[in-house]
Amino acid sequence: MDNKRQLDLIQRLGQLLLSAQPLPHRLTQVLEQLQSALPFEVARVIVLDESASWSLAFPPHAPGTSQNGADALWSNTLTGELFHLREPIQRPIDQRRCYVAWPIGWQSRLYGALELQIQQQDSPAPELMQVIQALLPIFATALSQSQGANGQPILSLAEQQRLDTIATQIQSPLLLQPLLADLLSWSVEHTAASNGSIHVAEANGHGLHLLTFELPHQENSPSTALVPSTRAHDLAKIALANGRAMIRQVDGLTHFAAPIVHNGQLLGAIALEGAKFQSQALLFVQRLAELAGPAVVRAQFYQQLADAGSHLQQVFDELPTGLALTDANGTLLRANPSWWQLWSIDPTVIPAIKLIPWDMLPHVLARLPDPLAFSDLFTKPITTATEALVVMQGPWQELRLLLMPVRDMLGLQSGFLLAANDVTREREVDRLKSEFVSVVSHELRTPLTSILGYTELLLAREFAPAERREFIHTVHKEADHLANLVEDLLNVSRLDAGKIKLERWVMALPKLVRELVAQLNAELDVERHRLLLDVPESLPPIYADRDRVRQILSNLLSNAIKYSPEGGEVVLHASVLQKPPASAPSLPPEPALLISVRDQGIGIPQHELSRIFERFYRVDNSNTRRIGGTGLGLAITRALVELHGGRIWVESTPGEGSTFYVTLPLATEMLRTRR
Ligand code: ADP
Repeated sequence: MDNKRQLDLIQRLGQLLLSAQPLPHRLTQVLEQLQSALPFEVARVIVLDESASWSLAFPPHAPGTSQNGADALWSNTLTGELFHLREPIQRPIDQRRCYVAWPIGWQSRLYGALELQIQQQDSPAPELMQVIQALLPIFATALSQSQGANGQPILSLAEQQRLDTIATQIQSPLLLQPLLADLLSWSVEHTAASNGSIHVAEANGHGLHLLTFELPHQENSPSTALVPSTRAHDLAKIALANGRAMIRQVDGLTHFAAPIVHNGQLLGAIALEGAKFQSQALLFVQRLAELAGPAVVRAQFYQQLADAGSHLQQVFDELPTGLALTDANGTLLRANPSWWQLWSIDPTVIPAIKLIPWDMLPHVLARLPDPLAFSDLFTKPITTATEALVVMQGPWQELRLLLMPVRDMLGLQSGFLLAANDVTREREVDRLKSEFVSVVSHELRTPLTSILGYTELLLAREFAPAERREFIHTVHKEADHLANLVEDLLNVSRLDAGKIKLERWVMALPKLVRELVAQLNAELDVERHRLLLDVPESLPPIYADRDRVRQILSNLLSNAIKYSPEGGEVVLHASVLQKPPASAPSLPPEPALLISVRDQGIGIPQHELSRIFERFYRVDNSNTRRIGGTGLGLAITRALVELHGGRIWVESTPGEGSTFYVTLPLATEMLRTRR
């Protein structure tokens, strides 16, 4: 038989197999034509149906046509072997005859078999074997389309093939969303449904709760992006609870839902809506939902891992602690943004940093007072978590560095985790606290010693009235000093607790200044200090708490006197704020009064200017130590100024003097906006 005839035969038989006649008819005709090309004695086709199997023998009168395939002519052993091996076999039956058979199936599914008995002497021609081999998929199609014995639809070969392809396709989406989107779009496509939704069970401890999604309506949006949906999901719920597909007709519309279940775990459901569905198409969706179970479980698991990973990543990125991970050789594996910020390393150089600490060193060297100690940290062998403090200058910064060995799954050291925290503030606060304790105890002790000394003297002896008066005056002055100290401490704690409320009135500054200066002048050593006033009577009123303004001015003036031990002028100036001095911070837009207190005292070094307003902070030099104080006055003053909505700042030149500036809001504006 030449090629052309071979192809003709395949085509003819193929057409016959797929024609519209009943299957037994078709099979008989095919076998008839086959026999004229291939001289076999008898043939049999076995059809495996979902419920029962049947067979068809050829020639029709030959034994073998039965409902259970058992008869004298055919050997059950050989058929059994064929189904077991699932590949063509050829076996001698006796001296005369030979058994040749092919399983009919597609991929993993078996639909039946074709069996022939031929004479030994005309052993099958290879071309004819080829024809049968080529016809097997068409046989499979024909057999798969036969209606089941109980009239249930079964999938066509094409649908089965599609499902087989899908079974591999659904392994690829890693995340849940794209997998669900695929399942839904395949279902909608296959059934031509007008609407579809997919429901995912959410375990929240309160029974079965479903999250519903549908495909986006825009034509060009990617099919992987499902959108949340408000579509009713009761049928999906019923289907899922019963573990089988459900169909319901409402107002001429068919609703269908197929559950997605795996190992008894309720995962979700595919739901469809349409005017009419082919039962075979619905069976397809049902099978698809069955296939989807393991894939959904896998995707959910992967999603959980991915979510956990992304949460960790967020923590890593946002953590204020600087973190860096290196391998055992110090090669940087990853570092979070805080790591670079803490060392003030310019983002542009980060990509070039490969080795820790060596590649980092050039960028921090200028700020390290002790570079050797820094590099030593990393060269010492580290077997347990080790802590170190790294000090940097310009600006002063203290980093607490934790070096931890990281181990792999075998327990071997695979690298290091470095964690850096900025502890500058923390340590500063500690320092300030201990300083405060020593300052306060010193400040308390000095007046107390003199009060005790003088009162003891007074008790022990009689003194002349003038002398006695002088002693009592000293005791009173020291007690007053103590009272001020206690008042300062109380003020600080009240400010901390937010307990200081202003009692604001429209008030005139000049009058208050006159009263205050009269009081200060009385205590002043006029030989050394001169208090000058530049406060015009015509100043507009301010809106302020009189006692607090007095406290502000009194603090500034007494500091000006206190920190001018050599004497000099102290000038109090006040005017309506026109053009702020260059040293001013950003000021509120409201019209304000500008008050300044200028002295010719010891001045304040430039780098201390920003810090003197912090509580307990005192400039650290021999002058201030000799002068004494608690470091609270300016902290209280600033808090009071800011409560009024004003600002305070300072200009100073060491050895020449300082000028403190304060702004306070004018009354007119305040009243107008409050009305
Ligand atoms: P105290 O005067 O009790 O130390 P303050 O809070 O009033 O506390 O001042 C804080 C620090 O600011 C002082 O210790 C001093 O070093 C500095 N200081 C304040 N006022 C002046 C000034 N007029 N001239 C120089 N230094 C000043």
